Parts: sequence; structure tokens; C-alpha cells
Amino acid sequence: MPTPLFAYRKYWAECFGPAPELPMSRAEMDALGWDSCDIILVTGDAYVDHPSFGMAVVGRVLEAQGFRVGIIAQPDWTSAEPFTVLGKPNLFFGVAAGNMDSMINRYTADRKRRNDDAYTPDNVGGKRPDRAVIVYSQRVREAYKDVPLIIGSIEASLRRIAHYDYWSDKVRRSILVDSRADLLLYGNAERAVVDVAHRLAAGEPISQIRDLRGTAFVCKKLPADYRVIDSTHLDVVGPVEPLLSPYVDTSGPSCAEGGPEAAATGECGVELMDPAGTGAPSTATAVAAVEAEPVTLLDRPREAGPSVIRIPAYEQVRDDPPLYAHASRILHKETNPHNARPLVQAHGDREVWLNPPPIPLSTEELDWVFEQPYTRLPHSSYGEARIPAYEMIRHSVNIMRGCFGGCTFCSITEHEGRIIQNRSEDSIIREVERIRDTSKAFTGVISDLGGPTANMWRLACKSEEIEAKCRKLSCVFPGICKNLNTDQTPLVHLYRRARAVPGVKKVLIASGLRYDLAVETPEYVEELVRHHVGGYLKIAPEHTEDGPLSKMMKPGIGTYDRFEAMFNKYSQAAGKKQFLIPYFIAAHPGTSDEDMMNLALWLKRHKLRADQVQTFYPSPMATATAMYYSGRNPLHKVRREGEQVSAVRGLSQRRLHKAFLRYHDPDNWPLLRTALKKMGRANLIGNGKVHLVPPRQPAKRHARVPADARPFATQHNGLPRNPARRRR
Ligand code: SF4
Repeated sequence: MPTPLFAYRKYWAECFGPAPELPMSRAEMDALGWDSCDIILVTGDAYVDHPSFGMAVVGRVLEAQGFRVGIIAQPDWTSAEPFTVLGKPNLFFGVAAGNMDSMINRYTADRKRRNDDAYTPDNVGGKRPDRAVIVYSQRVREAYKDVPLIIGSIEASLRRIAHYDYWSDKVRRSILVDSRADLLLYGNAERAVVDVAHRLAAGEPISQIRDLRGTAFVCKKLPADYRVIDSTHLDVVGPVEPLLSPYVDTSGPSCAEGGPEAAATGECGVELMDPAGTGAPSTATAVAAVEAEPVTLLDRPREAGPSVIRIPAYEQVRDDPPLYAHASRILHKETNPHNARPLVQAHGDREVWLNPPPIPLSTEELDWVFEQPYTRLPHSSYGEARIPAYEMIRHSVNIMRGCFGGCTFCSITEHEGRIIQNRSEDSIIREVERIRDTSKAFTGVISDLGGPTANMWRLACKSEEIEAKCRKLSCVFPGICKNLNTDQTPLVHLYRRARAVPGVKKVLIASGLRYDLAVETPEYVEELVRHHVGGYLKIAPEHTEDGPLSKMMKPGIGTYDRFEAMFNKYSQAAGKKQFLIPYFIAAHPGTSDEDMMNLALWLKRHKLRADQVQTFYPSPMATATAMYYSGRNPLHKVRREGEQVSAVRGLSQRRLHKAFLRYHDPDNWPLLRTALKKMGRANLIGNGKVHLVPPRQPAKRHARVPADARPFATQHNGLPRNPARRRR
């Protein structure tokens, strides 16, 4: 087991004690009595000393190890000078884009530049560059050539190998190559950053730190003692002893129940590529699946020495979309920290080496991370300026990390992992009390008790042994795994305890609810509906049709109906008029025009009118992005002649899909009429209840909104959500 975060011997500078807030200027360093910083963190966000902001977490965790940490937030990147404001750090520079990828922060899904930035004082846009990690790294190198440079944050994390970049519409090299950083830390990086800081402080050169989980680096040669496995041949049967594919998942009931059929469809056994291009399923896959017993775990044959999986080179995935899909699949199959192996990808004559993911933090460690002396405020230099992202979370409490949902359009799992890391109930309650006692703006309302998902706290695989060997991409798709503990009564107890804190009037749940899990514990749904819904509850069915839902790895709309029935029943019992706000994605890979038309009809039947809609946003490294780029489905075995996925790439089709979501907007009617006629569905044009759009434009600019219409907003890009318009 790794050294607990709080068990390291402290660095000598611990004697300075914790800073009231981490310094952003020489004057603040002087006031603290520091002659220099040990570590300087550069970030694309404003510095908010709150555990929801990555730089604050990394800074405070390093400070707790005894290091002096300075912050350079949103520097002017046009010269190296702003990067020298705190002097030269004794140990290293850490560079991050901020809480979001800088391209997602700066551009809309239609590639239009945003004028605002929720992570900047007064919501001002333009305070960070495109591809912030690369730009900041270049300036740091110009300022101090010889200082170790470590990159991190979601931008670096999700661009750690060659990746499709939506904004330039091409496959880019690993960000390690373009930034020329010494080390990349991916995922929530507390373990790696603490370890690397202590090792650098002990005099170890950064070029020798090659064994840390959750890190990646560039090297010229592979270590001689590693056996290199070509990822495209993982399922090939060896001549002497049949090799069991490490991707044969024998832990889930679907494998055992599916047997050879599952193997043939790729649901269970995984044929990665068909190098010969024959299109035939791999013998090894089929054999292994036939032999699988229900929930019997098959160990990999003992391998002589360590091994590394070589995924196709940058130049190959750049020029060959099916190989890109294959590389994406391998990466996602190698994300369980308990069984993942290192990956290597060539970029020209250099190798990008990825160590396996970090071991998840224990509850004790996560409590320790969240209970550092954060001020929970923006840095004092921002004065009265308002930072929207901070305003949104200032009275919310993060209770866990990670997500086992595996939604393909989302990169949370790739960043935080599939294994849920939980805070303790006591630690969460202490944070609620701290908000009550320290925030002048607190009115008694906790705006959220959540995390990546509202209701995965304390949920996990029933068996640690099975979990350690499992390679499934989701614990809840295509159905809830029989090995998953879905009991949400601990969450009910947590909610009750939070509500009972003196001074707390209301505890809202604003994080996205996994409704397929919620219905497994009716007591949880009742508690939620009775006490924690402020009139509206956001949930994300994302679509109604099986085609796109199967590409998203989301449950069928029948589960939504089940949840809606429960929601209405308990709302009625509580004497409350409450509404669900469903979120949908237009133009997701695998969505046909007909799928969008059916979704629009469903919305109309349910009297729902979307205020805002989002088209699919291909974020780096997401599985859905691999579908978008390659036109292949990496959820199953990837073969040249295999399943094709419609990518919805053209602007006009993306516009049409978006228009279906806002079928009630007269501006969209001409486009929808034309499309419906082309689709042979002119019968949906008319003024009746069964029609989708009227035959003519209204005389006035806006059509009348029916009294019983339910407006809602839909958004899935990680930015603070816009509150739904109040019901008229
Ligand atoms: S619960 Fe999750 S980790 Fe456990 S076997 Fe099922 S899919 Fe794998």
C-alpha cells in the first residue's frame, strides 16, 4: 500500500506554518518571512482557496507537507516576465490549465469563442490562452530553463496520449511532447505530487523519477527489463500455451450468462483488432469466454517480469481512425489501478510512457485533503470581484470522488477513476458547520451535498477481489452489475444529519442524480423528494432512443419513467408541486435524424420545452470522442470491417439535431419542416397535438407558450449551469 498522504516526514520549511492564503506576490512572501518558494503553481483559473478548486487543493496539500507554495494565477502569457513574479522555486514549477480544459472553457460546442469565463473575477473572458498548459509551460521554460517542470490538471490529464482535438479537427501529439514538461501528473494527483516533491527535496533528479503511479513522461528508450506487448495482438493465441486475454471480463454476470454469444458480440470478451483484416472473431476471446464460470475470476498467467503495452504510435492513430479507436479502447481498459499495466506510445523517435493510475485515496486521506486550512474565499487581491464558479459552489460540500457510470461523453472516469473515494460522514458534517460558522453570505441553505454524481457515495463492488480484477467500463451499463452494492441508506442518514445541523435550514442536492441507481432504494428517493428538491430536480436521461443511449452507455428511457413515477408519487405525498428537469444531448455519435425526431416527439408529449440545448462536445480522450473521430465503436471489439458509428460531424446536421430539441422555437420551424419532408414525415407538420411543427410561421415573433408547458435547460459541458427559467 502507498504511504498515506499525512504520514510523510515534513519538509524543514514546515516551521513557517500554514499561510493564511497562499502568496501571489513578493510582498506576501515577505510578510510570511519567506525568502523563496519551494514550489510555484501556475494556473489558468483565478486562485480561490477552496477545496473545489484544483490549485488550492494541490497547494494546501503540499503546504501540509512543509513546503512553501506560491501561486501565479492567470498570468499574462505574452511574455516570460509575469512568470518570474515569485522568483525561482527551489523544487519545481507546477503548471495547470485550471478546473477545465482551456479549449472547453474558451469555446462553445460550435467552436465560437465565449466572451465570459466563470473562473475569472467578474466573469471576464480572455484571461487565459488557448491550450494554457502548453503556453504556460513555454513561458516557464523561457523564464527558468533549468527548473523541473511538472504539468497537471484536467487539460494535461486528458491529453496525456495522442488525442483527437475537436477545435483543430486533428489528432494532436501527447501534451507532454508539446509542452516539453519533465513529468505529467494525471487524475487527482495528490499522491504523485506529494511523492515527487519529497523526492526532489531529497535531491533525486526529476529525470530519474520514473516509477510513480499516475505519472507520464517522455523517454528515448524503453527499460530493458520490460516485456513489450503489442496491443493489436493481445488476443492472439500463442503457439505453445494459449494466452488468456487480460480483457476477458469473467467477473460480471453478463459474461457468464452471455457465454459465447457475448464473446461474439464483443459484450464480454474483447477482440481488439484484427490485424489480418479477416473480420473473424479472435479464437482466444471465444475460448476464454466459453470457459468462464459465473463470477469466477481468471487470473492472468504469471508473466515473467514486468510488461508494458505498446499502443499504436501517434503517427499511426493520426492517419488511421480505426487504430485511433483501438488505442482509445486499450487506454480505457487499462484504468483500474489494481490491474492496469503501463502503456507506451511512440511519437517519432520518442516514447510517451504512462504509468498505471494512482491507488484511490482512503477515507482518512480524503478527509485530510478536504480539511486543510482553506479560507474558502477567493484570494484577497480580487477584492469585491465576483467569480461565478465560486459563487456557485461556495456553500456546497463535495462528499466523494470518482464515477463508475462510464458515460462515454464524459471524462470524469478517465480523470478521477471508477472506484468511488468517499469522505467520512463526520468530515462532511464538519464542513457544513464550517460553512455556517465562517461564510457571511450563508443564509442557512447548503446548495449541494454531492460530487461527480449525487448518489454514488459509499457505493462499491461487493468484493474487493472482484473489483481488483474487473475491467468493465461501467458498473451500471447495460444494466446494474449484480456485484454492485446499490444501498443508498447511508446517504439517507447523511442527509438527515446534515439537515439537523443547527443553523441549517435546507440542504439541496444539485449534483446530477443517477436515477437508475436511485430507484434501487425507494427510501432514498422519498427522502430526496421530501427534503432536498428546491422545486426542480435536474436529471440526465440524455436521450430517449436506444441507438444513441447504447453509444452513451446510458440506461433506457424506461428507467427514467420509473423514476419519474416515484418522484411524482413522493412529491404528491409530501404535498409538493415539483418538477424534473431532464437534460438531453443533441448530435451525439450514433444519433440519427430519426432518433432526434423521436426525442422531439417525446418532449412534446411530456410538454417539455428546452430553454437551452447542448450539442455533443467532443472532449479529449472521451470514448464518444473516439467514436466521433473514428466512426468506430470502441465499446466493442474494433475491427476495420466492424460496426460503424454515425458521427454527426457536419454543421448542418448538428444544427438540425439541436433544432429538434427546440422544436417549439419558430426560428427552427423552417429547418424542421424541410427535414421532416425529406425524412418522409410530413405528417408531423400541422397544428394538431400530434404534430411537431405548424405549417406556417407565426404572425408575431414568438409563439404563445401553452400554460402547462414546462421550460427546462440542458447543458453538459462542465461550466456552471444556468438556473432553469422560472415556470410561468
Ligand atoms: S460492480 Fe463494478 S467493479 Fe464490481 S464486478 Fe461489477 S462492474 Fe466490476
